[in-house]
Amino acid sequence: QTTILWFRSDLRLQDHEGVEATLNSGSPVVPVYIYDEQLAQRPLGAASKWWLDRSLRSLDQSLRARGARLIVLKGSALAQLKRLIGQVSATRLIASRTFEPKIDAFDAQLSKALGIPVEIFNTHLLSDPTQIRTGDGNPYKVFTPFYRALLARGAARGHARKALATPWPAPAEWPESVDIDALGLKPALTLSGHDWSEGFDVWTPGEDGAHQRLSAFLRSGLKGYAPDRDRPDLDITSRLSPHLRFGEISPHRVLHEAEAHAAAHPALSDDLEKFRAELAWRDFSYNILQLQPELDRVNFKSAFDAMPWRDDPAGLRAWQRGETGYSLVDAGMRQLWRTGFMHNRVRMVCASFLSKHLLIDWRQGEQWFWDTLVDADPASNTASWQWVAGSGADAAPYFRIFNPLTQAEKFDPKGAYRRRFVSGFTEKIAGAASAHHQKFERDLFDFAGVSASNSKGAPRLIVDHAVARQRALDAYAQMKKD
Ligand code: FAD
Repeated sequence: QTTILWFRSDLRLQDHEGVEATLNSGSPVVPVYIYDEQLAQRPLGAASKWWLDRSLRSLDQSLRARGARLIVLKGSALAQLKRLIGQVSATRLIASRTFEPKIDAFDAQLSKALGIPVEIFNTHLLSDPTQIRTGDGNPYKVFTPFYRALLARGAARGHARKALATPWPAPAEWPESVDIDALGLKPALTLSGHDWSEGFDVWTPGEDGAHQRLSAFLRSGLKGYAPDRDRPDLDITSRLSPHLRFGEISPHRVLHEAEAHAAAHPALSDDLEKFRAELAWRDFSYNILQLQPELDRVNFKSAFDAMPWRDDPAGLRAWQRGETGYSLVDAGMRQLWRTGFMHNRVRMVCASFLSKHLLIDWRQGEQWFWDTLVDADPASNTASWQWVAGSGADAAPYFRIFNPLTQAEKFDPKGAYRRRFVSGFTEKIAGAASAHHQKFERDLFDFAGVSASNSKGAPRLIVDHAVARQRALDAYAQMKKD
């Protein structure tokens, strides 16, 4: 009666229906993780591998504390599962749904392929997006009515799932497992990639780290979330995204605790409401991914297939390295490289800069984010990039082009965020006069030691805002004509 518990994007023991179901069975449970690049919706980027490596170690430690061990395998998931089923005489497999269309299709055939019952739970999203439909039975393409429907289902309430009326603690003990060494199942995973460990020490991957983050956020962050979440200088947001992406904490638990906190502090109700809506954007992104499984490659709005993108390797490289001359863009891109993260407002500005000011195909920027974000998410990254570029569902209108200078003035008024990531950025920004600000950016933004081309006297702003803006609008007009 052995059960295999197959961990995927659900690397936790608490608030986990699959864990609960297996433990209730009372029979031996074998926990396994399989790294299968062929099965993945898309192979992980380097920063995600960094995270996954640590998250798996953390899960293994939690299991060891309960007398079990995580089996980590690599290669074809199907072949590995078949082998493992034979080795441990498993009669049942339990997993959590990832809502990645490629894996959903695999899951649909899994029980047949393995010859044992397979149970798949939703522990990843507030609600199964495929169940949220318009009155006509169609999927939503616009966020606000989707969100309303989600609320109507009671799904975007942390306590809605009966299990979370009180959160599920992690099991104190693990039922009998198997002797990994006796089976010759040595951990087979060494995740390679660029080692950023120095800058990444701001993170604690794993379930404990996720809960610490949530507590810290509720202690200080929720207050002011509604008015100030767009301010990168204030560190207001939760930074839970990588923990949610790898399922180290459930979105229900996050919401449940935020609701309990706000219930005790009624002044936080607007902040809670905004936070709940942001969490629902995550579900909405998965809803969009269901509609377009190739969201990382295919324009959601096919009209954008005719967009005359520019081929500009030098521009792409300057953007990646944070050497555009626009301090908010450069600070964001350097925050990304150094810490594997970027504030949401700055992500919007950087993505807009690439796809509009540089007129480079959004897919090239999305791929860079995919490789460098610790929270790189198969749904949120692609849906957000398409949203910014104008090609996405419910997208920002293409002609609304962020001005990176005024965005900086508005959201980083004293330059504190930019100073943190761009050396030499020490001058006080005076006033809101754009002309002054542009001059400031051009004259004082100091790339010392960063860009050889700048020290040789090349123009410091990679493109002029007004010129680039007009070029983007012309390209859009041409696209619409074609
Ligand atoms: P909070 O403001 O504390 O929000 C709480 C949680 O809600 C987040 O952790 C996240 O899970 C979810 N969330 C918040 N905003 C969004 C959003 N707009 N879309 C989807 N989910 C959201 N988010 C990712 O998780 N992975 C990505 O790969 C990703 N790529 C992005 C790329 C671009 C170009 C843009 C504009 C946004 C992207 N986002 C992505 C969305 C958003 O920027 C991050 O979720 C957010 O910055 C994470 O910070 P936080 O945890 O402090 O968010």
